[in-house]
Parts: sequence; C-alpha cells; structure tokens
Amino acid sequence: MSTKYVFITGGVASSLGKGITAASLGRLLKARGYRVAIQKFDPYLNVDPGTMNPYQHGEVFVTEDGAETDLDLGHYERFVDENLTRFSSVTSGQVYFSVLKRERAGGYQGGTVQIIPHITDEIKQKIRRVAQGVDVVITEIGGTVGDIEGQSFIEAIRQFQWEVAPEDRLFIHVTLIPYLKSSQELKTKPTQHSVKELQGMGIQPGMLVCRSDYPIPQDMRNKLALFCNVPPHCIIQNLDAPSLYQVPLMLEKERFADKVCALLGLPERRPDLADWEEMVERFQNPQRQVTIALVGKYIQLHDAYLSVVEALSHGGIAHRARVRIQWVASDDLVEPEQAAARLGDVQGILVPGGFGGRGTEGMLEAARYARERGVPYLGICLGMQMAVIEFARHVAGMEGANSTEFDPNTPYPVIHLMEDQEGLQQTGGTMRLGGYGCRLEAGSLIGSLYPQADIVERHRHRYEFNNRYLDRLREAGLRAAGRNPERNLVEAVELDGHPWFVGVQFHPEFKSRPNRPHPLFAGLVRAALDYADRQSRSGQ
Ligand code: GLN
Repeated sequence: MSTKYVFITGGVASSLGKGITAASLGRLLKARGYRVAIQKFDPYLNVDPGTMNPYQHGEVFVTEDGAETDLDLGHYERFVDENLTRFSSVTSGQVYFSVLKRERAGGYQGGTVQIIPHITDEIKQKIRRVAQGVDVVITEIGGTVGDIEGQSFIEAIRQFQWEVAPEDRLFIHVTLIPYLKSSQELKTKPTQHSVKELQGMGIQPGMLVCRSDYPIPQDMRNKLALFCNVPPHCIIQNLDAPSLYQVPLMLEKERFADKVCALLGLPERRPDLADWEEMVERFQNPQRQVTIALVGKYIQLHDAYLSVVEALSHGGIAHRARVRIQWVASDDLVEPEQAAARLGDVQGILVPGGFGGRGTEGMLEAARYARERGVPYLGICLGMQMAVIEFARHVAGMEGANSTEFDPNTPYPVIHLMEDQEGLQQTGGTMRLGGYGCRLEAGSLIGSLYPQADIVERHRHRYEFNNRYLDRLREAGLRAAGRNPERNLVEAVELDGHPWFVGVQFHPEFKSRPNRPHPLFAGLVRAALDYADRQSRSGQ
C-alpha cells in the first residue's frame, strides 16, 4: 500500500485547535492499527524555535533527538504516543535557511534561486522525509490560509497533490462556524470565504472540520457542502470539549477517521480506543483533589509550562485525583513570610525549568519551604539546580553558593558550566539537548518510582551539578540518586529524612502521556495525596 498524505490547513481564525484535530486524527488512525507520522509546518521565519520568547510562543518542546520545537509537537506526542524527531517540526525560516546556505555553497551553480521551485521543492522533500515506514503522514500547516508567510507551504502542498495518486492525499480544512448572539444563529459565510481562498490557491479541501459552539444542523451542512464543493457527509463538527483528551472520542462519534480512511482508500478497521476511553473516564471522575504550586517566572502565560501542566494532570489520572495548580510567580517569594503565605495551602511544590537569573531567589525560597516543612517537592532542571543551591547555602554551610546566572565567581560553584562547555558559551551551541541515559541508584526514592534502573530522559540545559561538592553535600544529607553513566553527571538528587524531595536535571514532562503517566508525576501526586492524609490526621 502506498503512503497516504493528509494536509491540515486552517481558516477564519487562529486557535481553532488545528493541532488537536491533527493529533486526534493521528490517535484515531493509530487506534486502527495504522502507522502514523505527524509533522507541523510553521510559517514564522525563526530558524530556531528554541530561542523564542516563552511569553509569545509558549513552551519549547524538546524531542528525543534533541530538537527544540513548537509546543504543538507535545500535543502530537501525547495523543499519538510516538516519539517524533526534528523532521516533525519545520519553520519557514529553516526552509529558507537551508536553501540560502545551499546557494552560498554554490549549490545552484549561479542559477536563479526562486520560491517556486526551490523553496517549494525543499518543503516537499521535508514531507517525504517523514514518510518512511508509515501508512499515513499528517502534515499541519500553521497559521491561517491567506497569511503571507504561509503561502509557500500552501503552494508546496498544492504541487504535492499532483505527485501522488488522487486517493493518496487529502486536504482537511479546519474552520469556525461562529454563533451570532443577536440573531441567535450559526453563520457559514466566513467558512465559505475561507474555502474560496484555499480554492484560489489551487486546493480543494476534501473535508471540513468545523469548530462550533452548537451542533451544526443538517441543512446547514448541506449549505456548506453546496458552497464549498465538499460532500455533506465530509463536514465534521467539532464542538467544544470539556477536556482536550475527549476530542478524539468526540471526533470518533462523528466518524471522522472512518471518513478519512474511506477518502484515502484505506481499508475500514474498527478502532481500539479502550485505554483512551478508560483514561478519559478516570480524568472525568476524580475521587480526590490535591493542589500543587507551580513556581516559575513565566506564569502569566500558562502555555509556557504546557507539558508540565499536562504531565501533572496525567499524574492525577494515575490516582483518580484532580490536580489543581496554584500558580505562583517566583518574584513574589523573596521573603520567607511570602513563601508561607503563598505555599501554605498546597500539598506539593513544583519548580520547573527556566532560564536567566530573574526569579531564582524566589525558587530558592520555594525549595527551602518544601525542605523545611516536608512538603513534596519536584524540581525540574532549574528547579533541581535551585534546590541544590538552597541546600548548599542553608544546610551544608556554603554561604554564597551561586544562584543568579550561576555566577562563576562564587566561593561555592555547586552548579557550574562543564569545562568543555565554557569556550562554547558565546556561540549558543552548548546546551545538552534531547535524550540521555541515566542510571538510578538502587534504594533511592526515584529508583522505586521507575520500573527499571536505566532510563532515558530529555534534557535542555547548559549548567550541571558540580561533582566537586558531591561528598560535602552528601554528608549534609543531599545525595545523588541518578547519574549519566558515560560522563558521571548527576541527573537526580534527593534529600535524607524528607518524605518526597526529588530534583532532576532532565525534563520528565516531555515523556508523560495521558494513558502512560510519567512515574515522577504520578509519584508527586501520590506523595501529595499522602501529605494531605498526614495533614488531616494531625488535625491541621
Ligand atoms: N538555565 C539552566 C541551565 O541552563 C536551567 C535550564 C532549564 O531549566 N531548562 O542549565
């Protein structure tokens, strides 16, 4: 069977959940036993999404092979449950950059370099590159149809349709059917216009996925079909779901994937969604609730911590508990009294990753509060580094141990740059990115959470635990609980005499899945539930 290609475009408005639609389709096809690859084309010009401001773009998602990508890839991985690669995330900037580099290297031998065919060829090649060994490639085009920056992607997929057989490709357009309060009706005109715009660029969608606040009646589907040149049964409604993970089930009810299979000539298969349904059922019917403080510096934009938030909710699903997040700006935690006021009612504290010096003193306070009060603590990357510094300063007697920007002039650089990194610092090429191995110590808390001692987790950081202080910190009660065997780097730390205090140099949130909650997040929620039990027993 030849590989099938599905292209997902968007119209009328952004933020319609195109990524979730793409991810849901991936899940529904995988549930039918089809092998799926999924990728996103982003129209912006940045070459490296890793350097983008989290306030504008939300979190940077890191793949196993070390690519820093758009957060939509996180949705794809959580829904489809496959590890994606750098080829799954492509920006216009990257496409232009590689064409221009080739031009500089004489690769076009003086020929005129043009958007068509050179840029579009480069894009088409990126579609084919993810197609090996899979049945269906799903490609989402970011932005909305008509955006200037997205045009070369639209043009490339227009061309692509003639390079494969008609039954091997399908265009799905995701649009909005707005509801007008004053006249109390749903409106189809914006969708009609958006489809016309797509048609004007040579693309006829085979299917429309319509976001709508209310069910779309049959006569309206007929009207859309008539004006948009799409059969009525290929108009899929996508109503607001109470939770993201319900979207695939809702779309399954609309027979979305069956219709996609029919259009692509894929044999109809019954989906196995049992584990997904069970997960949604657990999510919707929690028996308990815990509150976890998330202490960071970008908390105004919750998307900056998207994978952490999702992983916390997966941890809750594991224990049938609803996890409420208390957002705490680390800037608001400088004084110890502030920490007590903001963290007094929570059953767990999580300090996630971050960059730069601002807010780090507040993270130290959060770690101190958790350490002193026995509140469960999970420190991720920067959150582990801050916990180590806090401990060095206040318990191991290393006053002046560094924090802000990891000042190397401190008397106690407990967190430092490795020697082989120092020279590279200016070039930005120093980060440890992607999956690295870690061996967990027998008898450690973290070791008891994972089913195996050798794990692979994803990294995105420059600084490391300084092994020079290992013994001194160990004597004071902070121990290494996991190490990278090749370079003997400390990847996880724990505290003696604390019920649940874990710092990890890696980012576990990127590998958590709703139906396979990550052991550290499931562990944190378990610890928070136990903490709540202890509190209620002691009558607090
Ligand atoms: N800024 C720290 C470092 O570079 C932590 C990075 C992170 O938390 N992702 O090591």
